[in-house]
Amino acid sequence: MTAPLRLSLDTSALVANWRALDALSGTAACGAAVKADGYGLGARGVFERLAAAGCRDFFVASWGEAAALADLVTDLHVDLSVLHGVRAEDMPAAAQGFARPVLNTLEQIRRWRDAGGGRCDVMVDTGMNRLGVSSEQVADGLLDGLAIDTLMSHLACADEDAAANARQRDRLEHLRGRTSARRLSLANSAGIALGSGYAFDLTRPGLALYGGVPRGELASVVRQVATPQAQILQRRTLTAGESIGYNALYTAQEPIEVAILNIGYADGYWRGFTNSGCARVGAALLPVLGRVSMDLTAIAVDALPSLGEGDWVSLNFALPEAAAVSGMSQYELLTGLGSRFERLWA
Ligand SMILES: *Cc1c(COP(=O)(O)O)cnc(C)c1O
Repeated sequence: MTAPLRLSLDTSALVANWRALDALSGTAACGAAVKADGYGLGARGVFERLAAAGCRDFFVASWGEAAALADLVTDLHVDLSVLHGVRAEDMPAAAQGFARPVLNTLEQIRRWRDAGGGRCDVMVDTGMNRLGVSSEQVADGLLDGLAIDTLMSHLACADEDAAANARQRDRLEHLRGRTSARRLSLANSAGIALGSGYAFDLTRPGLALYGGVPRGELASVVRQVATPQAQILQRRTLTAGESIGYNALYTAQEPIEVAILNIGYADGYWRGFTNSGCARVGAALLPVLGRVSMDLTAIAVDALPSLGEGDWVSLNFALPEAAAVSGMSQYELLTGLGSRFERLWA
């Protein structure tokens, strides 16, 4: 049974985005954040394609996400890191060796050392005050004796021109050589665009791989990867004065042709697209009319007299524009893409 809803995914755009970010990373390796199911695109599909392109370092948030990729990690000989570290209940999974924890807290470091302290990554806080041990404690020897692959930190304001960016970079730089770490890592997608001083030895883009543009410098570099496509369930004609959908938020000023699409906010096509989103078929733009409902969205189809029940339309989902139109962040638009899509890689 084929789904009435597709997420059209562009392999060449995904790979081109990674290659471009890899080039911008200079001599640093370029990894990939594939947490949250590959930002909604499907972690396994993303993982296989980026590994084939040459990506060797992948990041997920939890051990459940890591376990779902374990066979690929082994088969493709790449590295996987778990950003949230290890809880006591994660230790059996961590002991299997298909991924490294990114240790974040004193408790996690103690737990890892007590279990034998195999190779790990460590997150050091350089000013974001989210996850990580303090840079002062690292400087004072907290990590001495620990076998560290990557000592990493995370930028809080990389999508802005903030003084905090250089401050965070300098705090990480200060720790170079202080631990056994083979590599230092700081930059996410936006951090890569801040310039070569932020790349260190390994970059960790997520958003920009998937078509997101966190900084203007990347606008001409990043290509759209994901396009939602929905099937038309019904076509109807409205007379002047009739309105559409919940709360009658659109009223026809003259007779119009409308198509009802099989997509709604339960699929991640958010209510912010009410009276503002747009679909297209070829060059024809088909604006959203009225309120987006849970499973359905109405569009204007006067431009295409022959378009009808069972035909497919693409929703405009270029992330910078879709975010501006809907009031959602580019991250939320990607990670909100629901489970009812058939994810189709071309
Ligand atoms: C999610 C995440 C990234 C990727 O960030 P983007 O802004 O999506 O490029 C990198 N590093 C860490 C620690 C993260 O949590």
